[in-house]
Amino acid sequence: MTAQTVHTAEALTFSDADVARLRRDFPICRVERFGKPIVYLDNAATSQKPQTVIDAVTRFYCEENANVHRGVHFLSEIATESYEAARKKVKHFINAPLTCELVFTRGTTEAINLVASSYGRANIGPGDEVLITGMEHHSNIVPWQILCEQTGATLKAVPFTDEGELCMDSFDELLTPRVKLVAVTHISNALGTVNPVKDIVAKAHAVGAVVLLDGAQSVAHTPVDVQDLGCDFYAFSGHKMCGPTGVGVLFGRAALLEQMPPYQSGGDMIASVTLEKTVYNTLPYKFEAGTPNIAGVIGLGAAVDYLSGLGMARVAGYEHELLEYGTRRLAEVEGLRIIGTAREKAGVLSFIMESAHPHDIGQILDAEGVAVRAGHHCAQPVMHRFGVPATARASLAFYNERGEIDRLVDALHKVNEVFG
Ligand code: PMP
Repeated sequence: MTAQTVHTAEALTFSDADVARLRRDFPICRVERFGKPIVYLDNAATSQKPQTVIDAVTRFYCEENANVHRGVHFLSEIATESYEAARKKVKHFINAPLTCELVFTRGTTEAINLVASSYGRANIGPGDEVLITGMEHHSNIVPWQILCEQTGATLKAVPFTDEGELCMDSFDELLTPRVKLVAVTHISNALGTVNPVKDIVAKAHAVGAVVLLDGAQSVAHTPVDVQDLGCDFYAFSGHKMCGPTGVGVLFGRAALLEQMPPYQSGGDMIASVTLEKTVYNTLPYKFEAGTPNIAGVIGLGAAVDYLSGLGMARVAGYEHELLEYGTRRLAEVEGLRIIGTAREKAGVLSFIMESAHPHDIGQILDAEGVAVRAGHHCAQPVMHRFGVPATARASLAFYNERGEIDRLVDALHKVNEVFG
């Protein structure tokens, strides 16, 4: 089926029949282990890909392959058209004001590194502060640590509560005029917390700080409108939103991108080069040095089409129901404690169990054909905050079914049988 057929539902959710149908778009849903379909609950690490995305990448290599922005020949023109069409799709998807404000990167990590290196080194100096939170992914911590080491600025972090909600009183206190940049995750990959980013942006702007939002866990799970959020930068990865690996996006306000020096240099990012001097290309090409991940970008465009066809409000509505169902069902498992119980939460169920270490949980679940993540989720400060070395994490997507949560819960009872 195509994603569009799901639109028949009135409510902002999917029916069980809708989900059963849209699962047919995902070839991996047919992969079995021990004679049963794999229950894939590791969506925060990477999402599965619908056939339309796989076909778009294959079609590019079979029918359109050439380098972009370079040739005058037919294939290069089509490749460039498809590549630039994907940029326009992303623009509409996150409601960016201008197409030139979207830079293709390798992923969220590279997008954040781009801002830290380029904007950071040009605008942040001794005595300045960069403000993050205690629940960031390492890729929204380490680039700022390096920047602060290099510039003499100071990195500060907003703490969060036992439930996993940001302490907004502390945020208000830490947000002094010394803060030049605020970098916050929209949705926490380790806790599922949806942060009050619109409020954070407004407050940060009031003291003259620019704001980067890490959207790695948001774009595939909730409607995102960068104009409504008001942020200056928004970073996300293709592979977490049904697209290919190795491609991502940095949205940046044109006024800021214009003033920023290049991040990497080489082909495509120049307007003219002499041995004495280089004039840089216009936006966004100034930030896209070298041959980009053309097939990946085209695949990302197909992923955006797919998600837009489903309707992000419906995706969010359905995943919320699934989260509530999963939260209720996990409460039945003896000795299980959910880590991250914020009021505003997306589909992440991080937990520990009295009977077993998260890695043992992960292994027993795997033997039952249930894929979850066990570890620190690249958010070690979150683990430290809760005094645990790791958690097991089931992370949901719109193609997960209640029956899969039931299989997770059955497997967790087995963990207690084995280790209890
Ligand atoms: N931020 C968050 C919140 C994430 O969940 C991730 C991926 N786990 C990243 C950043 C980094 O994304 P990528 O590895 O795709 O660059």
